[in-house]
Amino acid sequence: MSKQASGGDERTARILALLDGAYGTDLRCFLDYEPQQPWQLLVSVILSAQCTDARVNQVTPALFAAWPSVEAMAEAPLEELEKAIYATGFYHSKAKNIRECCRRLRDEFGGQVPSDIESLTSLPGVGRKTANVIRGNVYGEPSVVVDTHVKRIAARLGFTRETDPVKVEKDLMEALPEDHWILCNLQLITLGRSLCQSQRPRCGECFLREECPSAGSFDKKKKTQTKAEE
Ligand code: SF4
Repeated sequence: MSKQASGGDERTARILALLDGAYGTDLRCFLDYEPQQPWQLLVSVILSAQCTDARVNQVTPALFAAWPSVEAMAEAPLEELEKAIYATGFYHSKAKNIRECCRRLRDEFGGQVPSDIESLTSLPGVGRKTANVIRGNVYGEPSVVVDTHVKRIAARLGFTRETDPVKVEKDLMEALPEDHWILCNLQLITLGRSLCQSQRPRCGECFLREECPSAGSFDKKKKTQTKAEE
């Protein structure tokens, strides 16, 4: 059973309070889509593989204007679709997946985006991460989305020793209260893009440094390396 905000580990509660204070508790997804059109989020998440959210958000307004429904997207000519999403990279496979995904939504799910993880992950181009983004953002189903930032920072903060995303997801569900499962993804991505970057975490400026077991360890490593090189 998941821990609730009132119980559980005190250090975790302090970290979450600091994250809430720094980044707020607004659940807005980084990818733009119309809330009444959840299929648009599905398409955007497929496009976001190996691509920044900002780039996806530049591409999708024209894309959704050209094919404004699941049914329209399901019949999009492949070449035109590829052209429309070219800037997001891997456009051959993404275009194929998007069109096939919309055909499956149309033919098997009545044009709706399913909410259960099995149906979602049965769709082309939809892995567990994408499925959890949909479940969390569209259906408000508590879920932990593990991307590269979340995986790295969860380890640095001592929430997991795992590297496999499914195991990291499980550890985070154990460690965090349910009301932060969706939120922590957005907060940790924001932290990962600014202070806790992969190569050069800025621990000295980080508001979590008092609670983080990895704080400063990167500077020590750097100093040791420099000394060894001297
Ligand atoms: S203290 Fe350093 S390692 Fe810890 S979360 Fe902040 S930037 Fe990342």
